[in-house]
Amino acid sequence: MKAKSKAKKAAVSSKAKKGEKYVCDSCGMIVAVDKGCSCEACDIVCCGQDMQAVTCR
Ligand SMILES: [Zn+2]
Ligand SMILES: [Zn+2]
Repeated sequence: MKAKSKAKKAAVSSKAKKGEKYVCDSCGMIVAVDKGCSCEACDIVCCGQDMQAVTCR
């Protein structure tokens, strides 16, 4: 078991908040968060890689 680290990958790993959208760089799929979660770091994976949060609105 790994100790909790404060240094995370920038911008990628974060809580999923309601209304946020994530896009897959590989296939272009976009998912919208309909219900937020309280995870320390919530990764949404598609095509074997973390999906990127879409920040523009
Ligand atoms: Zn989560
Ligand atoms: Zn994908």
